[in-house]
Amino acid sequence: MQKQLSDDLIRGIVADVLGNLNSDTATPSSTAASCGCRTTASASRGNLGVFSDADSAAAAAREAFESLRKHGMEGRKKVVDIVKRICTAKDEEWGKLEFAETKIGRLEHKIAKLQGIQNLPGVEWLQPYGMTGDHGITMEEQTPFGVVGAITPVTHSIPTLACNIINIVAAGNTVVFNAHPGGANCAADAVRVFNTEIERELGIPNIVTIIDPPTLDSFNELCASEDVNLLVITGGPGVVKAAMASGKRAICAGPGNPPVVVDETARLDKAARDIIFGAAFDNNLLCIGEKQIFVLDKVYDSFLDEFRRAGAVQLTSSELAAVTAEAFDTSAGAGGCSAPVLNRDLVGADASRLAGIAGKSVPAGTELLFAETDADHVFVEEEQMMPLVPVVRVGCIEEAVRLAKESEHGYKHSSMIHTLNVEHMTLMAKALDSTLFVKNGSCLAGLGSGGEGYASFSIATTTGEGITTPTTFTRKRRCVMVDNLNLF
Ligand code: NAD
Repeated sequence: MQKQLSDDLIRGIVADVLGNLNSDTATPSSTAASCGCRTTASASRGNLGVFSDADSAAAAAREAFESLRKHGMEGRKKVVDIVKRICTAKDEEWGKLEFAETKIGRLEHKIAKLQGIQNLPGVEWLQPYGMTGDHGITMEEQTPFGVVGAITPVTHSIPTLACNIINIVAAGNTVVFNAHPGGANCAADAVRVFNTEIERELGIPNIVTIIDPPTLDSFNELCASEDVNLLVITGGPGVVKAAMASGKRAICAGPGNPPVVVDETARLDKAARDIIFGAAFDNNLLCIGEKQIFVLDKVYDSFLDEFRRAGAVQLTSSELAAVTAEAFDTSAGAGGCSAPVLNRDLVGADASRLAGIAGKSVPAGTELLFAETDADHVFVEEEQMMPLVPVVRVGCIEEAVRLAKESEHGYKHSSMIHTLNVEHMTLMAKALDSTLFVKNGSCLAGLGSGGEGYASFSIATTTGEGITTPTTFTRKRRCVMVDNLNLF
């Protein structure tokens, strides 16, 4: 029955999308048409939320915001339900679409990320704060900003888009996306499908808009648009810096380079399995994924045994050198800067491809490679986003935490420790001060997969809002009634 329903839903959506794609203009909303407000030169230039320029996309999202307000919490909830429902119904189709376009990561994990959208919080997350006393009643409410400009990464194009829509619209806003060019087609396809269904159920077009094609110019126009009240940026250091320099308030989910420490009290077999699960997930594209491991000398050899037993394959130092030479340009001044330049062609590559570069053949199904390195190796220093993790031998917990902190570069993003010693946990928690800190689990436990809690694909590390929720996209407003209003 459920399968039948989702088949019907998909067929209905596809028919709607194809029908609309055949016409040059989007169907004007009945709400907008009947109320006589601008039925919009700007909105009509888009097609199911897809616009060729930032100003038109933002103007259309602004009109949609005014319409959404009239539908109250029930309208927002409908949008959240639609996005969740479609992500579940189209998990395989969209996983394949994104994988075919971006050519990075692992198909099964693209699908899993779309299934995870189901677990995001919605409008119920917005709880007012009430105060009552001799002078009356005061309520602090979480209210929308208006239109949010959102930048998405190539590493999780549709999942970040869907996650941002849920959080942003649950809070009562509408949204304009400037996706990463490498994942822009699948993002635009998803926007068309979401808008078709949202307009069918709510009669409001352009609650979600996207600029196609996205460019650096359209990013700058989006930042400068008066229709955009707030930015949410999910990406690396370049875009975070650009957004923060724009003068617009920006919620920045920036880069990470998560270290993991394994001490002498850890359950080594579990630590090995957890690290493989996290670091190999989507070929280590996750910003929270374990990127370098510091293991205490006392258990170093035993940990490597467990790591191999759990399926990680070791590269020799010459094999690692061969991969490093392909993965980074370390010549001084490469790319106009002194830092090593990552070869984007190897980001999210399969472990077998990396092993091939090293001239090594690995068993079928190998998910993760590792190599022994010093703490200053480029694979430790840089956010490699590849299923190849360096393992560093350390003498004591203090050294492990110091090197882990250095390798994280103060991003305050994510870190992990495997230990039964609470003091070691506290030492690392205080030193790294990371947004996510997972003890005795894989990095994914930090987003509710194997640990308690909810997920989000935008973890606002740089600006400190943390794992984004609907609350992140709200303004706090205070409503005060003065008088003797108490019931008591
Ligand atoms: P990226 O920085 O290359 O691109 C992100 C977005 O920014 C894209 O839309 C891109 O087109 C745009 N962009 C890049 N440089 C820009 C500039 N100078 N001006 C304007 N726009 C610019 O990142 P990516 O490779 O797509 O994603 C991986 C990075 O994102 C990693 O550093 C990862 O840690 C980070 N990330 C962080 C989170 C988080 O929640 N904190 C989530 C996912 C990814």
